[in-house]
Amino acid sequence: MKLAVVGTGYVGLVSGVCFAEWGHQVVCVDNDAAKIDMLKKGQIPIYEPGLKELMDKNLARLSFTTSIEEATDKSDIIFIAVGTPPRPNGEADLSAVEKVAAAVARQMKSYKLVVEKSTVPVQTGDQVKRTMAVNNLNQVEFDVASNPEFLREGTAIEDSLKPDRVVFGTDSERARKLLLELYSPLGCPIVATDIQSSELIKHASNSFLAMKISFINAVANVCERSGANVEQVAEGMGLDRRIGRSFLNAGIGFGGFCFPKDLQAFIRISEKLGYDFRLLKAVEGINEDQKRLFVKKIEELVWNIQGKTIGILGLAFKPNTDDMRFAPSIDIIEALQKDGAHVKAYDPVAMERAKQVLKNVEYCSNPYDVAKEADCLVLVTEWDEFKKLDLARVKSLMKVPALADGRNLYDPARMKELGFIYRSIGR
Ligand code: NAD
Repeated sequence: MKLAVVGTGYVGLVSGVCFAEWGHQVVCVDNDAAKIDMLKKGQIPIYEPGLKELMDKNLARLSFTTSIEEATDKSDIIFIAVGTPPRPNGEADLSAVEKVAAAVARQMKSYKLVVEKSTVPVQTGDQVKRTMAVNNLNQVEFDVASNPEFLREGTAIEDSLKPDRVVFGTDSERARKLLLELYSPLGCPIVATDIQSSELIKHASNSFLAMKISFINAVANVCERSGANVEQVAEGMGLDRRIGRSFLNAGIGFGGFCFPKDLQAFIRISEKLGYDFRLLKAVEGINEDQKRLFVKKIEELVWNIQGKTIGILGLAFKPNTDDMRFAPSIDIIEALQKDGAHVKAYDPVAMERAKQVLKNVEYCSNPYDVAKEADCLVLVTEWDEFKKLDLARVKSLMKVPALADGRNLYDPARMKELGFIYRSIGR
């Protein structure tokens, strides 16, 4: 099939490369000329394990351009995978989706199927259709479909090649057939719905996962106040198949480009439609509290934050990605700096991106340098590298062997044995 993917970010580039892996001809488009230049040279603008290898393998079927017009001419199905960031009021900013839909419609000279892959609020499909109808200069036939993406950064290739399910929504039989032709070879369950349901499945799924995280974090807070251990509680709950163990890891709350913004966007669109989704407002509130409570925990460890050196292990919002968007590390570091701490930090891959958002941080080249002369270490991202640290060496380098573990990475008994003053979440 001849496909185009507009937006070569975490979703668009991975999707484009995977489509090529399945044997399709793919044009990848971005309005960021620097990104396209890099891609043309075979370089990858993001950190995603396995992506470079898969792209190299499929280069013959991939091309890169900044021109939506060229991509429209060369393809039958156009996936929109541009960013849908939050506006200040939490609503999704859909201006990039609108621009792309209009540009495709102005250019198309034969039938096109335009597919929303970006995460968008329910009823966006109607706006895309309207925008395309208004800009349909050559009066050609077109369809619109929704095909939300469920990949996770860090395991995006595996998630795309072997998804749990594919969801798409369309009201056109022609579009349905095209999307079935594209996705049937994957052999996974396919949920084909109307456009609204498909759009809503994405917001509902992410909000549900965010709810699970806030739920276990709230339980962790009760555990801490009652002497219970949240890990044992999660294990006991998780073995119930109706509940499941995943997303029941207590910590410092969720971040990243998806959960916080999708939750907010879902709250706002529900409000617009006349429904007050109070449950999700609580999910959001608990997540914000969790970061504040963690900073309080650090304060308990060091007493006065003013003038103390605090070492941060991990900056990315989760392991195996360099993505810093809405990373909890940002709020935590800014709160510590506001209280007068000197902050040192290390992350295996996210430091370059972190430098663009976090100022006055002493970036170190390894975790041991972070530990040197620190009054407290704070574990924010559970990278494998931190699991394997020589903790005795870490302790010997610190001014005070205090460690706040925001991801329950270490065993409390072992940390005590090693002589750390150690705090974790809910245990
Ligand atoms: P991203 O910021 O990494 O990528 C978006 C890309 O679109 C950028 O390269 C940007 O330059 C490009 N772009 C913006 N406007 C454009 C335009 N008018 N024309 C051409 N290119 C344009 O974002 P992402 O993380 O890939 O997310 C994209 C969408 O997918 C979002 O709606 C997001 O919510 C959704 N999503 C993301 C993930 C994830 O894990 N990152 C997972 C599922 C869904």
